[in-house]
Amino acid sequence: MKTPFASREKFEEIAARYGTPIYVYDERGIRENARRLNRAFSWNPGYKEYFAVKATPTPKILKILKEEGCGVDCSSLTELMMSERCGFSGNEIMFSSNETPEADMKKARELGAYINLDDYTHVKFLNDLCGIPETVCCRFNPGGVFSVANQIMDNPRDAKYGMTRGQMKSAYRDLLALGAKSFGIHAFLVSNAIFNEYYPMMARQLFELAVELHRATGAHIEFVNLSGGIGIPYYPDQLSPNIDIIAAGVREAYNEVLVPAGMGDVRIFTELGRYMLGPYGCLLTRAIHEKHIYKEYIGVDACACNLMRPAMYGAYHHITVLGKEDAPHDHLYDVVGSLCENNDKFAIDRELPEIDTGDLLVIHDTGAHGHAMGYNYNGKLRSAEVLLKEDGSTELIRRAETPDDYFATMIF
Ligand SMILES: *Cc1c(COP(=O)(O)O)cnc(C)c1O
Repeated sequence: MKTPFASREKFEEIAARYGTPIYVYDERGIRENARRLNRAFSWNPGYKEYFAVKATPTPKILKILKEEGCGVDCSSLTELMMSERCGFSGNEIMFSSNETPEADMKKARELGAYINLDDYTHVKFLNDLCGIPETVCCRFNPGGVFSVANQIMDNPRDAKYGMTRGQMKSAYRDLLALGAKSFGIHAFLVSNAIFNEYYPMMARQLFELAVELHRATGAHIEFVNLSGGIGIPYYPDQLSPNIDIIAAGVREAYNEVLVPAGMGDVRIFTELGRYMLGPYGCLLTRAIHEKHIYKEYIGVDACACNLMRPAMYGAYHHITVLGKEDAPHDHLYDVVGSLCENNDKFAIDRELPEIDTGDLLVIHDTGAHGHAMGYNYNGKLRSAEVLLKEDGSTELIRRAETPDDYFATMIF
């Protein structure tokens, strides 16, 4: 069973004070999880998590993670600008982009960020644009499928990202000739992996590649970036990945592959997004209508513009009807938003307790790739975000959009 991170009373208080729909984040959960991650990887002295800004681009969240020792992973100009304004600089910033516009690349270079090149042609692109920094990272795509115990987990061959093995070697050679002194290797092969084998298996592949590239080109490998992809249990019957087991698995591969090759100084980096924030944010919404036609519908004041994952991916998000946790879940509902789009459904045929207009619903696990993916279709406005602090008080960390925000770019 999934339980919300705050009490019904606290959520009622938040709804009364700030209105709904609203995103609520749990500062304690975020900090404890970040500490758990850093502890698990503390065997590697150079370890650093670069939080994937795209997952939760909210300054207060970035600052909390900075206090916990994390850097940021940016993918665009505005994410770089936001990170700069939050106090991140130089090697606290990873720039993992693809099909990179010139202005974005220039900004990353200006900030002294680690630049992660997505393609072989980007070596020349970067060099012509603003020169090659001392340390450069290249993104690897091994092709094929990524499977665990004969089960296909994802399909790198169909992914647009990264370079082939041969291109990695050529890129390293060219970069060395252009003055690069040390290197990173990056790959992202599986999204939302809730099995513990993902990082250790990929790490081993990347460590082997690191040894191969070092031997073939003489390049000094400074870091291996395992990127994002560790998942969270969206379904109540799923188990959370165990970060201690995952980190120990990476350590074993490190000791077996890198250390014997004399590369025991390689730093491990991660760019987790979902794992860092997903469970520590929820979307609080109120039931405002009920409708009985061929199915039973509950209309809520949030819509897919506030949380796109169910509409876009058919993603499951657990729902708790506050105050009715123990009531029999004997109603079958579609919980829907107000968009003129029939995919605007937070739940389809979901067994829930009887919902009355006015009930508050917690949509779980929306702390990452939630508010961030919001949009303005149908003229809908994105909601506010509030932080539930460790002392139990609340702080508005993003105001809701207003009609003026919506009209700001329009030319009448
Ligand atoms: C999206 C992304 C991440 C974060 O992914 P999660 O699934 O949230 O962990 C990290 N690195 C890169 C390059 C990404 O595109």
